[in-house]
Amino acid sequence: MKINKRKFVKILGFSALIILFPFNVIFPANKKIINPNLSKEQKKIMFNEGTEKPFTSDLLKEKRKGFYHCANCENKLFASNAKFDSGTGWPSFSEALPGAFKTKIDYSFGMKRLEYHCAKCGVHHGHVFNDGPKESGKRFCNNGLCLIFKPE
Ligand SMILES: [Zn+2]
Repeated sequence: MKINKRKFVKILGFSALIILFPFNVIFPANKKIINPNLSKEQKKIMFNEGTEKPFTSDLLKEKRKGFYHCANCENKLFASNAKFDSGTGWPSFSEALPGAFKTKIDYSFGMKRLEYHCAKCGVHHGHVFNDGPKESGKRFCNNGLCLIFKPE
């Protein structure tokens, strides 16, 4: 995808891109591969803001106590007590650990959504919505492929 983006820039011209896309799409947060064992699918989600197919993550069934970490840099992101079954098919959490993520507004697919990425390595993890069931009111909808679960 990196090559495609470059080609795209060459074809359309840089100035046209500035007009067509918001600033943060053209100049995304610095992301780098820290875990050399990431799969193609993981890279697609983390570095190109992709989304895994719903109901495919093994973590949906994960009920043990522990913490969810970034699959790229191992940054600690969620505690197991924030996890809930949202029925959406993606691992869902009512709150993230303090400072775990940074957010930005994502305008793709004609929607305005709040995208969040790892505060440490910058990779994409998911979107946060305001329809969560717990006190926080938040629903962090996270790609399971971006997470590593470490039981307590
Ligand atoms: Zn990370």
